[in-house]
Amino acid sequence: MSNSESKDVILIGAGVLSTTFGSFIKDLAPDWNIKLFERLEKPAIESSNERNNAGTGHAALCELNYTVEQKDGSVDVEKAKEINEEFEISKQFWSHLVKSNQIQNPQEFIRPLPHISFVQGPRNVNFLKKRFEALSTVPMFKEIEYTEDHNKIKEWMPLMMEGRDPNETIAASKINEGTDVNFGELTRKMASNLAKQDNIDMYYKHEVLDFNRRKDGKWEAKIKDLRTKKIEHHIADYIFIGAGGHAIPLLQKTGIPESKHLGGFPISGAFLVCNNPEVVAKHEAKVYGKEPPGTPPMTVPHLDRRYIQDHNSLLFGPFAAIGPKFLKNGSNLDLFKSINPSNVLTMVSSAFKNFPLVKYSIQEVLAKKEDRMKELRRFVPDAKDEDWDIHVAGKRVQVIKDTKEHGRGYIQFGTEVVNSKDHSVIALLGESPGASTSVSVALEVLEKNFPEYMDKWTPEIQKMIPSYGKSLIEDEALLRQVRQASASELQLNNV
Ligand SMILES: Cc1cc2nc3c(=O)[nH]c(=O)nc-3n(C[C@H](O)[C@H](O)[C@H](O)COP(=O)(O)OP(=O)(O)OC[C@H]3O[C@@H](n4cnc5c(N)ncnc54)[C@H](O)[C@@H]3O)c2cc1C
Repeated sequence: MSNSESKDVILIGAGVLSTTFGSFIKDLAPDWNIKLFERLEKPAIESSNERNNAGTGHAALCELNYTVEQKDGSVDVEKAKEINEEFEISKQFWSHLVKSNQIQNPQEFIRPLPHISFVQGPRNVNFLKKRFEALSTVPMFKEIEYTEDHNKIKEWMPLMMEGRDPNETIAASKINEGTDVNFGELTRKMASNLAKQDNIDMYYKHEVLDFNRRKDGKWEAKIKDLRTKKIEHHIADYIFIGAGGHAIPLLQKTGIPESKHLGGFPISGAFLVCNNPEVVAKHEAKVYGKEPPGTPPMTVPHLDRRYIQDHNSLLFGPFAAIGPKFLKNGSNLDLFKSINPSNVLTMVSSAFKNFPLVKYSIQEVLAKKEDRMKELRRFVPDAKDEDWDIHVAGKRVQVIKDTKEHGRGYIQFGTEVVNSKDHSVIALLGESPGASTSVSVALEVLEKNFPEYMDKWTPEIQKMIPSYGKSLIEDEALLRQVRQASASELQLNNV
């Protein structure tokens, strides 16, 4: 097959990842045929929905888990630089979609919001100070401010200072260039743009059940129309599994060697939400604290102002819990069905190896509203029970796998691209930082799986993402230029 031939692509799932990848293919290979299958009735109902995630534009401005304290006491900021660059890449791509009029009204999905880190106790204060000193020498974080002064912190986050002991040792750092992102709205905009194209078909209420590899090397997907209950078969050169929590079970259905010795550990997220306008008005930032010792990054507590459509609210959490479902709208059999002879040892080893996580999750399952309010009061000392309600958010399925480096049953945090050797099956597994880095993940998929097209596609990608192929970490002038262009296109300066 020559690389000038048109191809058939099946995208599974209408979340932020499939719609982002589909948006790239649409522009890079406009004559390819795309079919997107989604088991629910609309795009962005699962993790990408604005009420199922925290909407943080993860740029490592406030998340303390990206700046790790080393044994010698220094703070390593390399991961923070990477995450920041990835978010700049996302903003450039979204700007391209706006500029080319593929999506409109960016303020409906991205808004400026200061990002603050907040710590308590002398040890954590010492860490935050060192983190501030390390970050302020890096061009991408140059605007960072730091204070231990209660009055200054009160200016930054008044709600969190009401009723606080004036002698408490606390510190905060702030970067104003943070964002709140409505990933649901972004996904819906990308999905409706895809639906307008002649050679892209969107099938809602269609569940992908199984796959069959044909003799000619193409894939046949078995799909159920959930409205008519009829089974359909669709043929494709490429299968892209962007099915969120269901990506692991679907990958297992392909039977490719890369799907073996792989399991999933579902963790649901819950938040305390406040809709009282008087309380909401006193907090206009995303404030990230430090995660409880021995727990994974997704347990980092944070108090966020959210803008969802025209509604302003506050959100605190996340509280984690184990449950057998892989999707919010999934089945209680998901976890058990995903265990098979090739991964049972992987899963069992994982439970032993990650005992602190298991213990933490059990504690979280048993936690009542008052336990969660107690956590909240570390952030908002005067929080009143009647102002806050529990909201169950989306699911994350952490990848469990055997690796040479970490042995059997290693839990991986982060998004992972898995593909068959011949690149005809591509699956996106895992979560955090998730939606914020969806554009970098889509680029990684293109580079890894479509090398024969990259000579042709690279100039096109550079038109969409001016920094593509260059380093925003090394090139400060370019960083300033793309930041300014994105801020202007996404209307981040004038909301
Ligand atoms: C509590 C929580 C907080 C988070 N906070 C943030 C945050 O602040 N910032 C951030 O950047 N990220 C955050 N994330 C991560 C982010 O939400 C996810 O990484 C991202 O939304 C994943 O997108 P996706 O497209 O892979 O999956 P999803 O949005 O889950 O979409 C997958 C789709 O596939 C469909 N599907 C599944 N199986 C099938 C099938 N067999 N056939 C057809 N369709 C199928 C599903 O119905 C679903 O619509 C958070 C996640 C959680 C759970």
